Amino acid sequence: MHVDKAPHRVIMRRLRSWCLGLVSGVLLLVPGAGTAAEESVRTAPGVRFTFEPVDAPFVEHVLGIMREASPHLRATLGLPSADTIHVHIAPTQEAFLTYTPGAIPDWGAGYAVPDRRLVVLKSPRVTGTYDGSSELVVHELAHVMLHSALRGVDIPRWLDEGFAMHMAREWGFWDRASLVVAVMSGNLVSLGAIQSVNTFPEHRAQLAYQESALAVQYILRRYGEAGLHTLFDRLRQTGSIDQACLGAFGVSIVGFERDWLEYMERNYGWRMLLGESLSLVVAPLFGVLCLLAYLQIRRRRRATLRRWERDEVDDWHSDEDDWRRKNEEWVMSRERNE
Ligand SMILES: [Zn+2]
Repeated sequence: MHVDKAPHRVIMRRLRSWCLGLVSGVLLLVPGAGTAAEESVRTAPGVRFTFEPVDAPFVEHVLGIMREASPHLRATLGLPSADTIHVHIAPTQEAFLTYTPGAIPDWGAGYAVPDRRLVVLKSPRVTGTYDGSSELVVHELAHVMLHSALRGVDIPRWLDEGFAMHMAREWGFWDRASLVVAVMSGNLVSLGAIQSVNTFPEHRAQLAYQESALAVQYILRRYGEAGLHTLFDRLRQTGSIDQACLGAFGVSIVGFERDWLEYMERNYGWRMLLGESLSLVVAPLFGVLCLLAYLQIRRRRRATLRRWERDEVDDWHSDEDDWRRKNEEWVMSRERNE
């Protein structure tokens, strides 16, 4: 995310461009500010980390993620972005929130300030885990590299988040399932409206981010990486997404959104039912059927148990009746004999 307001924990950050390469790190110790512990500095080509010495292993972990992701990011971006990125590892929750006043963490564990080519991550001593750090780091790195490459031009939110989202993760079954519901019920957020995603409730914001990722996926599928490169390049030159769209795809932004909506309906709408995505619908239905079958079996089992209980009671009564009848017969026969 950017440093503007994002109420939810989900998705965004920005980093600024970065070039990976060999790690020729230098570890320095510099005096910390105020009462803070000493701060270490680790540099590598295109990146500078600041952190407390105890977080050095996490720094190496993050650096590894950046080295692995950067070539793909650079290739998809298609523009050079050679600025050095500053990654700060916040040692405490408070330090995380106050390092950049006003910054709102994305996934609760990191944020980026593209204009400063800054990424702030929580120390695993705060989060308790390294899990999710790959997605987080790549997402923020994507933001910073994109902003760096476009040199301060205003980037539409859907494109900014969409690029970061698309680069940071694979989309799973349930991500697509929620999109199917939105497409079928006509509840997609328009690309233009995604600009104010920060004011959305969380479920709507999540949908907006998924749509953004799919808008970038759509560009890559329809126009290829070259198309995305051209779009970024034209956006950098003109500062206008409409002109960039016209230049790269030959359609206005309105036409682009119309085509994208058709793509969404084709891949996630009713027509999808006949296609390869049948499992999206069948799987939940199968789950429901299994649940109904289980409930039915349980109902029958209970009915059987109740019947058995009743039968046992009946049997007991009939035994008692038999006994009473036989007893009466015995008493009567004795009376007769007397
Ligand atoms: Zn983001």
